[in-house]
Amino acid sequence: MQLAKRLEKIPPYLFAELDRKRDELVAKGVDIINMGVGDPDQPTPSHIVEAMHQAIDDPSTHNYPPYQGTISYRQAAAEWMERRFKVKGLDPNTEIVSSIGSKEAIHNTFLAFVEPGDYTLISDPGYPVYRTSTIFAGGEPYTMPLLAKNGFLPDLDAIPEEVAQKAKLFWINYPNNPTGGIATLEDFEKMVNFCKKYQILLCHDHAYSEMAYDGYKPPSVLEVPGAKDIAIEFHSLSKSYNMTGWRVGFVAGNPIGIKGLGQVKTNVDSGVFKAIQRAAMAGFQTTEAQLQAVMTVYGRRRNILVEGLKSLGWPIDVPKATLYVWAPVPPGYTSTEFVTFLLEKCGILVPPGNGYGAAGEGFFRMALTVPEEKMYQAIERMKEIGLRYQ
Ligand SMILES: *Cc1c(COP(=O)(O)O)cnc(C)c1O
Repeated sequence: MQLAKRLEKIPPYLFAELDRKRDELVAKGVDIINMGVGDPDQPTPSHIVEAMHQAIDDPSTHNYPPYQGTISYRQAAAEWMERRFKVKGLDPNTEIVSSIGSKEAIHNTFLAFVEPGDYTLISDPGYPVYRTSTIFAGGEPYTMPLLAKNGFLPDLDAIPEEVAQKAKLFWINYPNNPTGGIATLEDFEKMVNFCKKYQILLCHDHAYSEMAYDGYKPPSVLEVPGAKDIAIEFHSLSKSYNMTGWRVGFVAGNPIGIKGLGQVKTNVDSGVFKAIQRAAMAGFQTTEAQLQAVMTVYGRRRNILVEGLKSLGWPIDVPKATLYVWAPVPPGYTSTEFVTFLLEKCGILVPPGNGYGAAGEGFFRMALTVPEEKMYQAIERMKEIGLRYQ
């Protein structure tokens, strides 16, 4: 048997590698503090679980769902976009499609728009799927470095003219995984204008739209006037409502973008379980108090971790959003050397920054997905071996 050549071009999925390393050490009896993958450890809020109980008892949820999502789900998503972002008038029939979490929709968007030889503009560091799905589609990833000095935003002037002209998709993600960077409406407006100039579909991965702290509310790219002419936005309930296992989200925006994605999806999947769509609709009704109950837990962990790292000399800012702290490795280490050191000397598992792209070299990412006492323990272990940023 022979695997397809395209698989040779795909690097091992970052987190699959980390899981393997963790299992190896756990088998040796090492007590690992796993701050690797951004998978919430808290339960899904009870109003959503309750809606699921009711939905699954209703036999009308048991057969195949409509490919694009039930009309009530798409309407609920459109209403949520209006309530949350003041994005009015999204047509549930042509401008919204359900997704089995964002990952599949991201991948399928590449299949819908990228042909062999086309460029995709992807952020570096960035969610690994942007790169691998470009390769699956036969395209060429062109990476846009996200640098601290630019506020982790892409430098549009640095994109060569000939690349822009051959690019089909422009991928951004704010609040950003892994850097924690955020974008303002003015930042989005510049990207919308750039994409309009070159007729590139602007794809905003908004996985962390609700995961912000201290009163900050991340905007939608669709709030930029005219953005719907060129942009689609990927929403997921995974991170915001501790629902990574449920696999549900939606994509909203430009009708050609939605149509292309929908056409691929109709041929490769059969939609989201209707009971889960109903539970997600309860998710759209989450009150500010219920959301804050989730975010307060992450906010406290963030503070413990940032304070702890600062006490060891780390030069870092408090992230305004996401589930992550993005921190520089101490001078003298590469990313890979430092995360190996942390794992072997402290039993702390974190991904190296370069796992998210070459521009992530010199950084590591810590996920806020372990309880407070483990956070304290992680800092304590670093202190005990005399580790400092210097
Ligand atoms: C977690 C994540 C996703 C995927 O989430 P789903 O569970 O597939 O909805 C997409 N993009 C980014 C940036 C993420 O961090």
